[in-house]
Amino acid sequence: MHQMTLAEIARGLADKKFSSEELTKVLLARIAQLDPQLNSFISLTEDLALQQAKAADARRANGESGALLGAPIAHKDLFCTQGIRTSCGSKMLDNFKAPYDATVVAKLAAAGAVTLGKTNMDEFAMGSANESSYYGAVKNPWNLEHVPGGSSGGSAAAVAARLLPAATATDTGGSIRQPAAFTNLTGLKPTYGRVSRWGMIAYASSLDQGGPLARTAEDCAILLQGMAGFDANDSTSIDEPVPDYSASLNTSLQGLRIGVPKEYFSAGLDPRIAELIHNSVKELEKLGAVVKEISLPNMQHAIPAYYVIAPAEASSNLSRFDGVRFGYRCEDPKNLEDLYKRSRGEGFGAEVQRRIMVGAYALSAGYYDAYYLKAQKIRRLVKNDFMAAFTEVDIILGPTTPNPAWKLGAKNSDPVAAYLEDVYTITANLAGLPGLSMPAGFVDGLPVGVQLLAPYFQEGRLLNVAHQYQLNTDWHTRTPTGF
Ligand code: GLN
Repeated sequence: MHQMTLAEIARGLADKKFSSEELTKVLLARIAQLDPQLNSFISLTEDLALQQAKAADARRANGESGALLGAPIAHKDLFCTQGIRTSCGSKMLDNFKAPYDATVVAKLAAAGAVTLGKTNMDEFAMGSANESSYYGAVKNPWNLEHVPGGSSGGSAAAVAARLLPAATATDTGGSIRQPAAFTNLTGLKPTYGRVSRWGMIAYASSLDQGGPLARTAEDCAILLQGMAGFDANDSTSIDEPVPDYSASLNTSLQGLRIGVPKEYFSAGLDPRIAELIHNSVKELEKLGAVVKEISLPNMQHAIPAYYVIAPAEASSNLSRFDGVRFGYRCEDPKNLEDLYKRSRGEGFGAEVQRRIMVGAYALSAGYYDAYYLKAQKIRRLVKNDFMAAFTEVDIILGPTTPNPAWKLGAKNSDPVAAYLEDVYTITANLAGLPGLSMPAGFVDGLPVGVQLLAPYFQEGRLLNVAHQYQLNTDWHTRTPTGF
């Protein structure tokens, strides 16, 4: 039962082969048995899950239908869940029970999805290895000595290990696509503004975007359908109709113009990954796509720009966690200053503190123009590169990451080494574009992802290309041994 995709579950529930309650019990038992190896959950919500499953079964018995009605999922632990701990992977929010549901959580619950729990993540979504969590590192089910990627590493590891079919995640600089690549999943970061950020604890507000992590493009279409849409509570939410993502999955790829940026194949890319990316291009050519070399000349400036902008926004967003308005409060503060200092010093981990300091520095008088303003100018150039490329091609294709998942602890002493691994993903966040990662093969037994980028609001095109690719390849069906 645990092998089923969301699409298969929807069919099984509609055909009354099993109930949502039965499926939910099977998956909760599986989580209890296997998750101690992975540490992919911060909280389990068994009671809520069973209650939601029974309610979904009752709605189906009353003639209701829907792809998510009775479907088990989990939420990354930065989506606020009313009355349930929402920790953001931090000691700062270890005892925070959200007073309301995030829009994404409320929409999925209304569609009948069943919440099994809250998944582990890098503290405040800062990281690419899921090692900065206050609740400990998450292990990659493909090799327990390796990281699952981050910051949505808990959602990724849980779905890859077949503990559940799909989960929500967020992507500020790659945190949906990179863990998808590291664990052999399909993950989609939507266009900025497509999915409401209301109730999603902010890291860098101009970059953050929620999206689905699942095994197939077909399932990402189902989950995104439940997440996307205008929300008056989020001033950056865009009031555009949400297309039927499942309906466009079978569009032919005949004549699709794919651009492959020449800058992607530089010295930093593992040559074995480069080969797998070329193979995926050939596969899409067989399906009728036309491939063309393109250029994204400002790509080399994206990492430094991102690692100024994201910490700058984080330093501002995280100022609310002061032990007074929100978050952990230290014992016996001597005075107000001591309370602020020790609450933040004890409540935030090292990586979060580093970013707050970098961000506050970049925004300070005298340095603002040199760093923050400069980074914003680069951001515009990165966007302009994409806009020029998309006048010639429909999709941009390349690797999701330059290397496969590294060993736990391998980059802990060198944060910049980890930042460099974000080279292919962060440009989509800087430009606000949608991006998808899908399985493309293995290197040393570890999964490799291929990334597709599309123009604004073309999530349907990404899902269509990925679905057609998955109909003709079987990388996405491979299961990690032991799970
Ligand atoms: N690795 C990137 C960072 O640490 C991206 C994280 C994310 O997308 N949340 O900022």
